[in-house]
Amino acid sequence: MAEIRQNPATKEWVIIATGRVKRPEDFVRDEPEEALPHHDGNCPFCPGNEGKTPPEIFSNKGKDGKWTLRVIPNKFPALEPNGQIDREEASNFFRRMDGLGRHEVIIESPFHDASLGLFSLKETLEIVDAYKRRYCDLITDNRFKLVTIFRNNGKGAGTSLEHPHSQIVALPVVPVHVRNRLESAMRYYDDHGHCVFCRMIGMELKSKKRLVLKNDDFIAFEPFASRVPFETWIVPLRHQATFGEISKKEMKGLARILKSLFEKFYRGLNNPAYNLIVRTAPTGDEGEEYYHWHIQVIPRMTTSAGFELGTGVYINVSLPESSAEFLRKV
Ligand SMILES: [Zn+2]
Ligand SMILES: [Zn+2]
Repeated sequence: MAEIRQNPATKEWVIIATGRVKRPEDFVRDEPEEALPHHDGNCPFCPGNEGKTPPEIFSNKGKDGKWTLRVIPNKFPALEPNGQIDREEASNFFRRMDGLGRHEVIIESPFHDASLGLFSLKETLEIVDAYKRRYCDLITDNRFKLVTIFRNNGKGAGTSLEHPHSQIVALPVVPVHVRNRLESAMRYYDDHGHCVFCRMIGMELKSKKRLVLKNDDFIAFEPFASRVPFETWIVPLRHQATFGEISKKEMKGLARILKSLFEKFYRGLNNPAYNLIVRTAPTGDEGEEYYHWHIQVIPRMTTSAGFELGTGVYINVSLPESSAEFLRKV
């Protein structure tokens, strides 16, 4: 019989389709995407083409003086830095505002064929450091209410440029999708007097069934109500509401767990397409007890369709417990 599971933090229901559940091995990609060149003369993110991108916000340089990571404004930004945050009622009904915001790109490596699954610890730490630096800078502009960091890996995850990169978007609003998640966590906090994510960490550490990785600062696990095969959450062990609160020591712990997890994805699952999202409380909620920032990794091995769009309920054809066991062994 199928099982309907609920995520206590988001209140989202998921159908675990036990009748047609597949083995973890069935999700391993047959062939990796065709091998990329080490350098692509047409790629705007490759060295030598720096002039094709807007002027950089900052870059890190190696001992040879060449850059190892660059942060640039997106050349075709979804939002622009100048504008008003005032909402207007157009024709007394429709609400609108200026397309104000920031949209930046972190070019994670000078090498076109680099992959998060193969980065060294030092390179991964450089990415985490860039996330923190940009996050902390963007939240100083009090017009921005939410700073979202994300990474699309592979064509199946919607990436338009193969060169390894992450993106950061600063928004002048808290979107309803995010607000719903915040409110779910807040209601749990009101009912129980403690953070739902801290409780979840305790449960996952105790049962160990869905645990993938753990170090002194972070844990990675397959959520009880995983929406898709190999959905993975990376959560800091110390309670902190916003990403900007991560300490220097914790940044190293995050780099270590990211490196190990994506090595497992790369070697065990043949580098699947995935989206990585840093889910954080809005600006101004630093130090709050109701929310606990975390990273959600959503592999794109299955496609969602009308039922998912119509209900928000995902049908997962894998068991989170089996996926976790598979990843632990890689
Ligand atoms: Zn490139
Ligand atoms: Zn917490």
